[in-house]
Amino acid sequence: MAFNVALRSQLPLEVVEQILSFLPVPDLCRYRTTCKTWNELINNPAFSALHVRNKNKHSHFIAIHSITTSINSITTSIQNGQYIDGSQVLCFLDISSKKWYSMKPRDALEKSFLFDPQDFEIVAMDGGLVLLKALKRACKLCHHRSGCIQLCVWNPIKDMKIILPCVPNHGWDLLTNFVVDDIAETFKVFITKRGWKSRVVHIYDYVMKEWKTSSKSEMLNKRMYNIIQSIVFQDLLYVLCFGYYFVNKYELWRYNHVEDIWERLHFADACFVAHDQPKDVTGKFVVSGERLFVTFWLGLQNVFEVHEIDIQSRSTKVLLTWTITHIMNFFDIDVNLPFDYPGILIIGFNKSFMLLSNYSRNIVSFDAETKETNFEWPQLPLRELKMEEESYSLIGKQMDFLLPGTLK
Ligand SMILES: [Zn+2]
Repeated sequence: MAFNVALRSQLPLEVVEQILSFLPVPDLCRYRTTCKTWNELINNPAFSALHVRNKNKHSHFIAIHSITTSINSITTSIQNGQYIDGSQVLCFLDISSKKWYSMKPRDALEKSFLFDPQDFEIVAMDGGLVLLKALKRACKLCHHRSGCIQLCVWNPIKDMKIILPCVPNHGWDLLTNFVVDDIAETFKVFITKRGWKSRVVHIYDYVMKEWKTSSKSEMLNKRMYNIIQSIVFQDLLYVLCFGYYFVNKYELWRYNHVEDIWERLHFADACFVAHDQPKDVTGKFVVSGERLFVTFWLGLQNVFEVHEIDIQSRSTKVLLTWTITHIMNFFDIDVNLPFDYPGILIIGFNKSFMLLSNYSRNIVSFDAETKETNFEWPQLPLRELKMEEESYSLIGKQMDFLLPGTLK
């Protein structure tokens, strides 16, 4: 969209405001530099609210965060793994123009950042904001003696940071869910510990400005059920557990944080995949087009599957099945993948999925309605890996940027 100077000076500001409110944030950042009036307009919180209301229902961008790690660390959690070069890259793909934008969060955060810039990682993102976790405790932030979890919400478009009160440490192996409501300009963070020891969820609500602890769930009395995944879907927290030893099956639990109520959703045993080797359990939730899915890697068969979970009818159905050969062909991988770990990141967008491999820069999308696979995506704007030695650690989300005036 090109505004010439004459037209710009003739249009009433309200009209300009309306027109601009439909544009994506990267364009707005460019227009901010064209004149003082526009800069003030775009930085105004009232304009940010208008922009959120007027933007396209589907986000224009997919954000992907990448860290390069050594290949022997991929099955462990990131903080125990080894970084090859310590680089972290935040990339944004414009879905309509298929163009990449990328930035290095460490460079952007170096100034005045409370965490040690070398010692944090992005653990989640949503609605234009990212959630950072300090890997080493920053002493100036709290007086706790033992380690606690220190989190910070950051808008990568702007030097805006919100430091959250710290959470008592419950070990490092945490499931973090971050939900931003860009219209109400609030967010929530849910922290669940993997495994069987903790049976509570810690919830941070930006409106209340404090952490709340859920009541205990009853799922883990028997010590046999491990929490393996969590997701917030339609404002409720879903927790997937796997029963080890002789149980060998999944349980799906739902937590309502407003009422503080846990509920087990009873599915038939055959609804989720049963595993013979408990260590292969890799269920991962993903949401696309208001539908809930879970992915599985069936280590024994070398098959990657996406199942839809129908909460209403308490049933599941298989949507996608890829063998190891499919994966190697689709992502152009010519080395042997470790058989216990397919390394596939899946991101829901519109009514589709975007799939990325930790071992290559190729991207494949899969339409959940038509079941068509599409390979016409530009590669991740990252350096090529030495496939036998390195891998990416990727997280991603479909989201728009948030304007500087949002969420002060
Ligand atoms: Zn603390």
